[in-house]
Amino acid sequence: MKVPDGLRKAVRTIPDFPKPGILFKDITPILGDAALLAASVALLSEPFAGKGITKVVAIESRGFILGPSLALRLGAGFVPIRKKGRLPCETLSVGYGLEYGTDAIEMHKDAIGFGERVLIHDDVIATGGTAAACCDLVNRAGARVEGFSFLMELASLKGRAALCEHVPFHAVMAD
Ligand code: AMP
Repeated sequence: MKVPDGLRKAVRTIPDFPKPGILFKDITPILGDAALLAASVALLSEPFAGKGITKVVAIESRGFILGPSLALRLGAGFVPIRKKGRLPCETLSVGYGLEYGTDAIEMHKDAIGFGERVLIHDDVIATGGTAAACCDLVNRAGARVEGFSFLMELASLKGRAALCEHVPFHAVMAD
């Protein structure tokens, strides 16, 4: 499926949000347009249809916007990865580096079974640190990461280089 021109145009770039120096990619105009919303989910799922994906894993918080629709489209379940301390049951946890300091993310220990086939999703990939940490959690659960699917890649930050190179990488658009 061809990426509609309108999809790229609908991403707003907001300078200095949430901090000075960040060029924030705002996808909310896509979400508000029924045709662009449907195209986004279709394009995110396209390379992974028929690949036996059993779970879509997405990261708080903007991964939760399109992640469940992507899972429905692929006939898979949805698993949230959240920031430390927000999941109520026993978790697997991983720390990862941020620009200044570190943070940790968590996934319920029983959310994914051994040998499941997992697609990792977020709206935007920047440095790739968050997606790499998600991959680590999925591997520790004994499941297989079958792919990564992002709506937008910030190509200059080379985030895809932070991910396992043998795992299929898909970004619907690059900036
Ligand atoms: P990363 O650097 O790839 O670990 O990105 C960290 C998280 O912040 C991801 O969930 C991205 O969606 C989000 N993010 C990072 N940079 C931007 C940006 N310029 N615009 C929008 N979201 C961003």
